Amino acid sequence: MKKVYFKTFGCRTNQFDTQVMLSNLHQFTISNEESQSDIVVINSCTVTNGADSSVRQYISSLKRKNPNAKIILAGCGAHAKGETLWKDGSVFGVMGHSEKSNINKLLQNEEPFYEIGDLNHIDTTVVENFIGKSRAFIKIQEGCNFDCSYCIIPQVRGRARSHAEDTILEQIKILASNGYGEFVLTGTNVGSYGRDIGSSLAALLKKISSIRGVRRIRIGSLEPIQIDDGFKELLNEPWMAKHLHIALQHTSDEMLSLMNRRNKFNEDIKLLNFLAEHGYALGTDYIVGHPGESEAIWKEAMQRVWSLPLTHIHAFTYSRRDNTASAFIKQDISGDIAKIRHNELTSCIKAKNREFREINYKNLEVLLESGQNNIYKGFDQYYNTLEVFSQEDLSGNWILAESVEVQDEKNRLQF
Ligand code: SF4
Repeated sequence: MKKVYFKTFGCRTNQFDTQVMLSNLHQFTISNEESQSDIVVINSCTVTNGADSSVRQYISSLKRKNPNAKIILAGCGAHAKGETLWKDGSVFGVMGHSEKSNINKLLQNEEPFYEIGDLNHIDTTVVENFIGKSRAFIKIQEGCNFDCSYCIIPQVRGRARSHAEDTILEQIKILASNGYGEFVLTGTNVGSYGRDIGSSLAALLKKISSIRGVRRIRIGSLEPIQIDDGFKELLNEPWMAKHLHIALQHTSDEMLSLMNRRNKFNEDIKLLNFLAEHGYALGTDYIVGHPGESEAIWKEAMQRVWSLPLTHIHAFTYSRRDNTASAFIKQDISGDIAKIRHNELTSCIKAKNREFREINYKNLEVLLESGQNNIYKGFDQYYNTLEVFSQEDLSGNWILAESVEVQDEKNRLQF
């Protein structure tokens, strides 16, 4: 049987999509070694120009390492750059998002192929097992209607559409009976779930929580305006992970408006304080160095960051993406300044995270991932990392840590 290696770039949604492709592959062997594979499927990301270059660099290095491998481009990059890369012979095949369930047939092609499909499809594949993961990722929706000015995603993943509730619940039932207890709900814009099918994220969460074996539910990323009353009613449920990722992207209203965002700082701070009062650790996405972020704007934005009860951050340095509204604004922030701001922001949240862990170091419920050299790592309910030393194999186990040692970037426990 021919050997296939999967290389995944980008976000959790892409990780999920790779699992969908794996679930649909029947007449091939999955390989862990790209240099000894007959076919390499690249599940690509195109979120910035930099992401495009990473994919191109990977293709070049692959051609040196394994010149005979057939390279197949999948993922968002297939929609943005697939045609060019296919026409210039960089890749053997291109398959769009909607073609994942046809992968078994597509990979049998002896002739180069370009199957871009459409951007309206919804996956119906039920992913039964996640290789090497103790948490299961469930994609509940596709696409986004927000049109933030820096983002290409709506162009390469289409408009927001929800997966059928029955498919999601069936998938979770199977995974729970296969031993998974923690579920991470993902999608391009998770909080928009249900709007197109007369339902809501809160209604879905309630149904998922009643499935036998479901112990904890995490939610990928929410927009502030999507936390509605129905969702707020669930905050004290024991199965809700006590960590929410609320995508603010900035704390200056001027920047938020330039970025065509729907949130405003005054409402964001009220919301985050409300969630923190309910015991939640709070993460966010934040973009630094977007054009227009003057020194005065940055200073005020940072003061505002300090005032927020944040514990985690995904800080991104703005990177221009062709064909987006922001790409037409003249860049007035140098790379060096953006780097300084990025460091300032991450140091602030690092300090806040430590402060949070100094208070919340007891009764941590942790699902451990597979370990190495007697060290096991996992996330607690607040999405903080716990490192456990144990002679016993604890992979995939839930533990309750009554008290842990708080270290600089993580918590630690001798088991
Ligand atoms: S919410 Fe904004 S940043 Fe997120 S995918 Fe949609 S357009 Fe992009």
